Amino acid sequence: MKWDVSFETKCQGMDLGIQDQYHAISFPIYQTATFSRSRLGEVSGFDYSRQTNPTRSQLESVLANLENANDAVAFSSGMAAISAVMRLFAPGDHVIVDMDLYGGSVRLFDQVCRKYGIEFSTADFSSEDISAYIRENTKAVYLETPTNPMMHVTDIRKLAGLTKSRGLLLIVDNTFLSPYFQNPLDLGADIVLHSGTKYIAGHHDTIGGFAMTNHKDVAEKLRLDVTTIGACLSPFDSWLTLRGVRTLAVRMDRAESNAMKIAEHLKTSPHVSKVIYPGLKEHPGYEIMKKQSRGFGSMITFEVESKECAEKILNNVELFYFAESLGGTETLITYPITQTHAAVPEELLEKNGINERLLRLSVGIEGADDLIGELDRVLKI
Ligand SMILES: *Cc1c(COP(=O)(O)O)cnc(C)c1O
Repeated sequence: MKWDVSFETKCQGMDLGIQDQYHAISFPIYQTATFSRSRLGEVSGFDYSRQTNPTRSQLESVLANLENANDAVAFSSGMAAISAVMRLFAPGDHVIVDMDLYGGSVRLFDQVCRKYGIEFSTADFSSEDISAYIRENTKAVYLETPTNPMMHVTDIRKLAGLTKSRGLLLIVDNTFLSPYFQNPLDLGADIVLHSGTKYIAGHHDTIGGFAMTNHKDVAEKLRLDVTTIGACLSPFDSWLTLRGVRTLAVRMDRAESNAMKIAEHLKTSPHVSKVIYPGLKEHPGYEIMKKQSRGFGSMITFEVESKECAEKILNNVELFYFAESLGGTETLITYPITQTHAAVPEELLEKNGINERLLRLSVGIEGADDLIGELDRVLKI
């Protein structure tokens, strides 16, 4: 790092001191598969874009800087990053995972990793004692906080005390808050994961993923993985993400302030039976979040009076979209039970309270009053 600067300034990447040869303000897209050598034994620093590419390297430096990590490895999607982290483990290894996770992660663990001999235990991290789940072959603890979609909050610092004392890797999927609101490595986590598709890129226009760490050996294994397996982020997607991340701080602030207003408003609707937003003082994770995060994010989960009411909302929204995904400038409403969490086994859905009345909002940066007006309109139909 060249200067000690704020997060907002780090988003611009200038403090990294990397400069394009023509001093372009927008980092160039190095749309090339390979790099030539002028003679035997001489290298330019880049050989082949599956391994490394300048646009991707610039993005990795910017993101490592934002997450206070020594290293960030970019992947072609969030799931590719999570898969690479799971390949750190060998057959017979055991991983403890939170019961409420992104549905794609549950599917990866259940339907792919188990086939390769990795064992999993599922626990409620927000209420249970995780040490009771540790076995001789336990290697890691895996969570999201707040979780997708039930917004459970885990005290990362407290859990890191346990994982460090037992020699386990603590892996945190930080997608929901982005590095602007939460830095798990600073709280004791060993690996941070992101679906870059969401807040980091922020415009619903590209797919990407990141794994960050301060452990040199872990970073080396992840680099070997991306080079060998080939789930690398393309130069153009790297550039879109670099472009998106420039406004990360302002987008997060605006989306959060919208979310706060919407959560408060939803509480007043007679058609809404439950509002789950960690920025509400009555949320059980509120105090922990105030200690470990700089904000509450802009994801709201809420339950309406009936399945018919949920359907009516999804079928009638016009000012924002009924779609999967989250973290972009446009507000999206999602139906977890048939979309993001369709791959989660039924008994786990039930245990988590993911039912046909549950909706998830990813609040964007539109005018808050417009969003509230639209929610009121569809709730009243
Ligand atoms: C979307 C998401 C992922 C998967 O990321 P992709 O970029 O869609 O592969 C993982 N974790 C969380 C919390 C997500 O929301």
